[in-house]
Amino acid sequence: MVKETGYYDVLGLKPDCTTEDVKKAYRKLALRYHPDKNPTEGEKFKEISKAYEVLSNPEKRRIYDQGGEQGLQEGLGPEGFSSPFDIFDLFFGNPFGGGRAGHSRERRVKDIIHQLSVPLEELYNGAVRKLALQRNVICDKCQGRGGKKGSVEKCPKCRGTGTFIEIQQIGPGMLQQIQTMCPECHGTGERISSKDRCPKCNGKKTVRERKVIEVHIDKGMVDGQKISFRGEGDQEPGIQTGDIIIIVDEREHEKFKRIRSDLIMKMELELVESLCGFQRVIRTLDERDLLITVVPGDVTKHGEVKCILNEGMPLYRNPYEKGRLIIKFFVNFPNTLRAEVCSKLEDHLPPRPRTTVPPNAEECTLEEYDPTVSRRHYDDDEEGGRPGTIQCAAQ
Ligand SMILES: [Zn+2]
Ligand SMILES: [Zn+2]
Repeated sequence: MVKETGYYDVLGLKPDCTTEDVKKAYRKLALRYHPDKNPTEGEKFKEISKAYEVLSNPEKRRIYDQGGEQGLQEGLGPEGFSSPFDIFDLFFGNPFGGGRAGHSRERRVKDIIHQLSVPLEELYNGAVRKLALQRNVICDKCQGRGGKKGSVEKCPKCRGTGTFIEIQQIGPGMLQQIQTMCPECHGTGERISSKDRCPKCNGKKTVRERKVIEVHIDKGMVDGQKISFRGEGDQEPGIQTGDIIIIVDEREHEKFKRIRSDLIMKMELELVESLCGFQRVIRTLDERDLLITVVPGDVTKHGEVKCILNEGMPLYRNPYEKGRLIIKFFVNFPNTLRAEVCSKLEDHLPPRPRTTVPPNAEECTLEEYDPTVSRRHYDDDEEGGRPGTIQCAAQ
């Protein structure tokens, strides 16, 4: 039992989820709510990052599960959390952060990152998907100058630095220097008078362009895999063009669940099939039919797991090798049997064990089990100071 579920709820997870689940949920949500994509969702982005930071770390997750958010505050202190942007950059290998001044060796425009929802069939068979994206390209009319040749001059307000130092008095005799982006030139340090401005890009130097890319989904690609298009992203004059990065987002399949190279499926059997053998046909992801036969005399038990070798997912870059197709059997038991059938059936089943009834045995009734009711009872008993008292037929 966990104390509270707030962080799990933020990521849309249950408290019994794995670290893999946490990563996957973070990946999807962080991409959707990153302020670059969704400027009004800054708060949501922060919440997601915080939840991910805690739940992806076993130690922090343990503290949270035991003591909730308050327990974390006490355990980690106010310095306990990282910036949501640092978490994001670390997770995605810095795709949005590439253009941030001073951090990277080579100045590069930040990458365009796009999540592509891919059905399991396409990851099995391979596919080519056409994708239309918007990107900034250098304006061809002004060759990225923003205006007529020689019309670019230094911004008079910031003298070409792009920044602006403001001195503020924050108390008697106390001054503070604040560096802000120059409001006149928006940090570019340049100015073009309106009559010389390029009419195509309106002085912005770049224009939006629709670009169609062909994304090759290779057999065996996995959820979260990145497909990079080097230098196909946004352009900006004077710095290296960014990349387009496509992130594969595996869609859930109704029949097969994928775990790495294995596919797992559930198969329901009637009791007669479980006891007397059966035949079933399984349609594969490339639409072949696999026939499985269990001959009379072989029993398939409820909960039993079997597998077919080399019918799982193809391995990435080695698609002739495949994982296993794992089948979990669930047997449907009949709710009742006619009494006269039972004796006939007994003749064919392994003998029942003998039960000896002690003379003072108390007779009890078997009731339908309701887990919610029973837990409440148990808690009540504990609060009443009578732990360990288990009563027969409590109602
Ligand atoms: Zn300026
Ligand atoms: Zn232009």
